[in-house]
Amino acid sequence: MVDRLKEDLIETGSFGRTPLKRIERYEQLDPQKGVTRPAGTEENRKIRDYAVGRMKETGLSVKIDKVGNIFGRKEGSKTNKGSVMSGSHLDSVINGGMFDGSLGVFGAIEAVRRMDDESFDNERPLEVVVFTAEEGSAFSPILLGSSVLVDKLSVDEALNRKNTRGQTLEEVLENMGYKGDFEGSLDDVEYMVETHIEQGPVLYREKIPIGIVENISGVAWVMATILGEENHAGTTPMRMRKDALVAASDIISFVNKRANEMVKELGASTVGTVGKLNVFPNGTNIVPGKVEMGIDIRDVVQKNMEGLKNETLKAMKDIEKKYGVDISTELPPMHIPVKLSDEVVNMIDNSARQVGVMTKRMNSGAGHDSQNMAEKVKTGMIFVPSVNGISHAPLEWTNWEDIENGVKVLTQTLKNLSRIAKR
Ligand SMILES: [Zn+2]
Repeated sequence: MVDRLKEDLIETGSFGRTPLKRIERYEQLDPQKGVTRPAGTEENRKIRDYAVGRMKETGLSVKIDKVGNIFGRKEGSKTNKGSVMSGSHLDSVINGGMFDGSLGVFGAIEAVRRMDDESFDNERPLEVVVFTAEEGSAFSPILLGSSVLVDKLSVDEALNRKNTRGQTLEEVLENMGYKGDFEGSLDDVEYMVETHIEQGPVLYREKIPIGIVENISGVAWVMATILGEENHAGTTPMRMRKDALVAASDIISFVNKRANEMVKELGASTVGTVGKLNVFPNGTNIVPGKVEMGIDIRDVVQKNMEGLKNETLKAMKDIEKKYGVDISTELPPMHIPVKLSDEVVNMIDNSARQVGVMTKRMNSGAGHDSQNMAEKVKTGMIFVPSVNGISHAPLEWTNWEDIENGVKVLTQTLKNLSRIAKR
């Protein structure tokens, strides 16, 4: 079965778990104790070292670029250009799960090992990639390593980013031994395939082993501050209040109601969430004077995403008047929706059919390095089911047979893409 890969995932799944514990089955998970390996930590170094060890064992030639992205390369038999890349990230969120990112990296290494076992002749070069700091749990922005690869962020900008402890990326890369000098470039990369856990409930609920990602949602954030008037909850008559939290509740209801309507009326895939709320002074007997809120809006259709964002901003104007509060907003840079390559999507579909695994085409609501890669390289993503749709949490899990299906499809896809003349 899947023993080599299983061992890689179980062993590295103990890194960053306190106490260090090998988890082999869902029942062994502790809802409080996930893995914590943000970029640049000792635990992140450990899993990087482990991956590099496996790459070298597999005969890959390993190079590290200036922002710590790792490339493990196997030359092609017919050309040294137009390589087929596959991988993901090894950093994690705080208290996350053991497959997020790691599956994409160790799955890609396993795919190369299986090709070697069969003496498969890869005409194009194969490259396993590990992207630095995908999660944003230590450094912002998210998708940092792949952003440098696609020239969205310069090497210097990236190296000067600071983590929550005030260390620069350059410092932590040096400490870990991952400040390389390889000039990573995508000019000679033809394809990218990332295997990842779905991080949502669709495949698990529908009992479909493989999702083929067609689009990755865009994300628009609105950070709002509502200023009302802080006052005594007992002595301030209802008609004389400027309650910032009541105004905030109208905004929360609006975002939720409109997103639901857009789904129903337009058949859109819009999601709108108010996930962050700080109430000041946050006392039971005080009319709230200030509320900070974070609104997250996503869709694979940019027009819908921007539509809900603009409608929300407009609703805020009405809410300001209604409650006599002041609302100021900040709009962080938007991530636009990304469409993945039809050629790779179809190739994953055909490959799954070749190995007899059922698939479903779907979109990704979560961000991935692949959305950056898709700007320069023909890119596709293979999703495997997340038990109960849980992710970024200690109970994140994917069943071993689903991991096996994912790697089977990945291996076949990489084989097919590595041929120069496609069948
Ligand atoms: Zn991930």
